[in-house]
Order: sequence, then structure tokens, then C-alpha cells
Amino acid sequence: MKKIAVAPGDGIGPEVMDAALEVFEAAGVPLTYERVEMGLDVWKRGVNAGITDHAREVVESTGILFKGPMATPKGSGVKSINVTARKTWNTFANKRVFRTLPGVPRSRHAPEVDITLIRENIEDTYGAIEHMQTHDVAQCRRLITRPGSEQLVRYAFEVASRKGARRVTCGHKANIMKLTDGLFLDVFREVASEYPHLQADDRIVDALAMELVMKPDDFDVVVLPNLQGDILSDLCAGLVGGLAYAPSANIGEHICIFEAVHGTAPDIAGQDRANPTALLLSGCIMLRHLGLVPWADRIESVLPIALREAYRPRDLATPPWPFSTKRFTKLVVDLIQQEPPILRRPALQPLQVAPRSEARMMASPRQPEHEETVGVDLFIDSDRTPDEVAAIVQKACKGALQVKMISNRGTQVWPTGSVFTDCVNHHRVRVEADGAVEPKEIFQLAGRISGQLRVCSLEALLRIDGVPAYSLAQGQ
Ligand code: NAD
Repeated sequence: MKKIAVAPGDGIGPEVMDAALEVFEAAGVPLTYERVEMGLDVWKRGVNAGITDHAREVVESTGILFKGPMATPKGSGVKSINVTARKTWNTFANKRVFRTLPGVPRSRHAPEVDITLIRENIEDTYGAIEHMQTHDVAQCRRLITRPGSEQLVRYAFEVASRKGARRVTCGHKANIMKLTDGLFLDVFREVASEYPHLQADDRIVDALAMELVMKPDDFDVVVLPNLQGDILSDLCAGLVGGLAYAPSANIGEHICIFEAVHGTAPDIAGQDRANPTALLLSGCIMLRHLGLVPWADRIESVLPIALREAYRPRDLATPPWPFSTKRFTKLVVDLIQQEPPILRRPALQPLQVAPRSEARMMASPRQPEHEETVGVDLFIDSDRTPDEVAAIVQKACKGALQVKMISNRGTQVWPTGSVFTDCVNHHRVRVEADGAVEPKEIFQLAGRISGQLRVCSLEALLRIDGVPAYSLAQGQ
């Protein structure tokens, strides 16, 4: 029998995982489970990243992790163990399925919904590459890559083809973030041209949020960058009755992680109130992924009946009993056991996870013909006025380099600007030449300035195939 790794997690994790495995047992799912330790308690014991070595070994050898939610304290130094797991094992796509379940009390706005949301899972602000640039300016680098976007978007179109979907919609903010979200949208359009049988369109993410609420039945498959996908997936969860009904799969080439969208629900942990449906549905996605389709069908077929019973009013005058994890699990188990056992032999391909000796370079199929450095954005920590900063930097410039512009929080404040633009102690000084410069010249310039001003960061300005590969400031 195929073995998988199981990590119950924190908060309500152990309760919902026990419920899911009890249902699997009743259905006779032909899997064996190796429990592994991951989560906040592991991190508190001093184990780096909250994942034990044993957990790593088991996940990497089985290729499948079935996991409960894991807690991440807000704002403290603990990195999210969930995000670490998704990124370490390169699960590049987060597939979240939002389907109306009969018997579930749901949003009054929502008709029948069947939306598959594919969220990028590795890049974007979730790289969490963050720095304090000055004592009161924090920065997060947002990286969107062509190979990463292409891998994700192709997966979204493949899912749509398998689902028999008619439409794939890309959500983005390319009107504002023209380079990062612009790249994501370009890749979407390129890949879409390879799937002419599917309708492909795009929406600016805020308009998409509104449309998902007003006409959710218009959408089939929606693909988004990481942060936007995270937010809109909770919106979709609201349409189908809440986080308790939102399953997900983190898909990688070698390792896949199946988990509910919800978190550890500390407000109800240990009270027998957690609804295990989302984890059970995630488990069913996992069973289908492993070729165990009859077992997934059996569990999914009884869930609506059990949910209807769980939420049935006691009588016309009194509300239903409060949700009980144990009562609900027993309902599901009893319904499953009313049917004869599934005897079909599973069409299981033993999953072999190819051992890796080193990380693979993800090559981009498109190499530029010509790439040149034409200047630098210097980020300077200073309380001086933009005029003073411009004068100091201009004096240090040599050759063709000239101070062209200073912006503050993205808005141009020099050579022109508005007195109504408030500034913080973090100036972006754009120094540009009309043609190419030697890359070392920009570091030498930073070195010359650093006697008088603190350079907290710098960003080379590139021209790729003759096109400036950097954004303009607001108002430039
Ligand atoms: P949450 O999903 O834990 O809870 C939000 C609300 O939904 C709460 O009122 C909770 O009681 C309810 N809820 C969630 N799941 C439920 C279920 N199965 N049955 C009934 N009610 C349920 O979100 P949060 O409170 O923002 O986060 C709590 C912790 O979980 C944080 O530490 C966060 O970092 C972590 N988290 C982990 C994951 C993950 O492991 N994949 C995902 C999200 C949040």
C-alpha cells in the first residue's frame, strides 16, 4: 500500500486530522500513514523552520504530505511553517476548489458556484524578502519571474482542460505594477494562445473581487499571483459557506501537499466545534491525485447528506444543534458503512520521488538579444531636502551619469513636484546616462556618495532589447 506523510498541525489541526483519517479508515482507503512532526511546537523546541529532519525525510521519500493547519504568530520572528513547506518542496501552484455543497448555509449572494482558483505559491511578496531601509521605512521585495509564472499558468490551463472548463481568467494589477504584474499577464496571454479551445480573459484584481461576489457562476478557473490569490480565495470561501468548506492542494513536480485553506482556528480549538469538511475535501483531491477515485467519490457523495443532517433544525422553533466534530464524523462514518466496501483494486502508480542532489535552474525559454546597464536608483536614508540630496549626488557623478529624478514613496519630488507631497527619510535618486555605462561605475558612484549620505540600497537600471526595464515614478 502507498505510504503518505501526515502532519496533524496546531490548534484544531489534530481534531480535524483525526476525523479525516477515521473517515478514510471507514471507507477502506488503501493508504498507510506515517505521522510526522511539523508546527509551532516543533519550532518552540528549537527545531529550525518547525519541520523535523524525520518529517523532511518522510515527505521527500513519499512525495505526499497530508497536513493540518500550522500557526504563525503575527509580526514575530517565526516564519510561516506552511509557507516554508510549500516553498522548500517547490509546490508552485496552490489549487483551491470552491464548490457549493448542498446542506451548507452559505452567502445569500451566491448561486451555485464551481470555481477553481490557482494561486502562485512561491514568489510575490510571499518571498518575504524584507528589510528596514531606514529606521522608519520597511521594504518588501516582490519578485515575479517568467519561468515561475509560466509553470503556474500552464498548470492552470491544464486543470481547466481536465475540468472541462470553458473559461480561464487571469487576475492581476498590471495597470499599476506594470513590470511585475505586467510580466504575469504577458505570460498568461502567451500560454493562453496554446489553448485556443478555452476562453481566456483577464481582470484587474479589484474588479475581479466585485465580479466574483456579484456573478460567481460566470467563473470557472481563475489564476492569480500569490498575495492576490490568497485574498480572493478567502472571498470565494465566503461564497460557499466559509473556510470550513475550502480545500486545497499544493502542487509540485515531485512533492504535493494537501491541506485545508483555513488556519488553526485558535478560538475554537479543543472544543469539538471544528468542521473537518475542508480537510476531508482536500483529502479527496489527494485521493484523486493518487488514482484512488472510487474512495474519493464515496466520501464526497456522503458529505452533503451528513452536512444537511448536522445543520438540520431540531424543530421549527429551535435552531440546529451546535456543530460537533465528533457527531459529524460519526454521521459520515455511518453513511459510508451503509454501503458495501469498495473492492476495486486501485490503479495506483507507485509514486517514485526522484532523488535530488542539487536544485535545478529553471531556464527561461526567452533570452534577450541585448541587455545594458544605463544607470542606478540609489535609495538614500536622509532627512535633507530633495534639492540638497540632488546636489550632493550630482557632484559625485562622473562621465555620462546625471541625476534625473528623485522620488519619495514612489512619487516624484525633484526636479519638479508638489509641496503637498509629504516625504519620509528615504529618497530614491535616479541617476541615468543616455547610453550604456560600465556596471562597476554605479557601485563606484555609491561609494563616493557614502561619505556624505547613507546609501541603504541600490538597484541597477537595465535596458533590455532597447526597452527601459524599470518603472517611472508617479508624476514623472
Ligand atoms: P483561521 O482560518 O484559523 O480562522 C478564521 C475563522 O474561521 C475563525 O473564526 C475560526 O474559528 C473559523 N474556522 C476556521 N476553520 C474552521 C473550521 N474547520 N471549522 C469551523 N470554523 C473554522 O484564520 P486565522 O484566525 O486568521 O489564523 C489562525 C492561525 O492559523 C494563524 O496563526 C495563521 O497564521 C494560521 N493559518 C494557517 C494556515 C495553514 O496552515 N495553511 C492557513 C491560514 C492561517
